[in-house]
Amino acid sequence: MNDISKQDIVTLVKLQEAETEIVRLNSVLEEVEKEKIKIAKKLKQFKKALDQNQEDLEKAQMMCRDSEQEIQVVDDRIIISNEHLRMVKTNKEYQLILREVDDNKKRKDALETEFLEFMDERDKIESIVSESGKEYLLLEEQISSEQAEIEKKSSNDKESLEEYLNQQKDIGKTLAPALMEKFRKISKMNQGLAVTRVKNEVCLGCFMNIPPQLYIEVQRGNSLISCPQCSRILYYVNTD
Ligand SMILES: [Zn+2]
Repeated sequence: MNDISKQDIVTLVKLQEAETEIVRLNSVLEEVEKEKIKIAKKLKQFKKALDQNQEDLEKAQMMCRDSEQEIQVVDDRIIISNEHLRMVKTNKEYQLILREVDDNKKRKDALETEFLEFMDERDKIESIVSESGKEYLLLEEQISSEQAEIEKKSSNDKESLEEYLNQQKDIGKTLAPALMEKFRKISKMNQGLAVTRVKNEVCLGCFMNIPPQLYIEVQRGNSLISCPQCSRILYYVNTD
């Protein structure tokens, strides 16, 4: 059995108190990072949908422009044909051009109907883009204030973590390096709980009974006793 002083045990308990806070703060900060990623993802997804809407709008605008140009082309043809009509010499030629004008007018009607549909579609998408653009700005604002809130909260936690780490370093200086190493090892194996109280012959780390002889030794407090079940360093506090 390793002989240690009562002061060593006090030091180990203090080391554990800091360790518990360090483990807690690390896990809080880890959650914060996850939350931040989640929030950023939400905004990114919305932006993606917004970009898609914008792309749809550009396509619809292009369809309108193309359709307008096509109508213009057909219109020009009608004008030219009408001019020809005035200059033709034969009836056959006249009929031919007349039919051409007629065909082009039909084509123009069809194109105009199509153009109206394209415009309707464009207006619909335009209002979607405008609405979702406003929504995006609101979401962006909301998210940036959420992130600022999280940042503020976690900066306090980061500060505390730094303090506990320094505190632990200072406490550790008064311990023998081998004991410190043992503490580290046990803590790593037990999710940050290396030193635990024994009460009524029960280890409060794993809640198993410890043998009476070991309990007596823990109560004496002048040797390093580990729980036979969970290997945690045991200590006793007289609460009577
Ligand atoms: Zn135990």
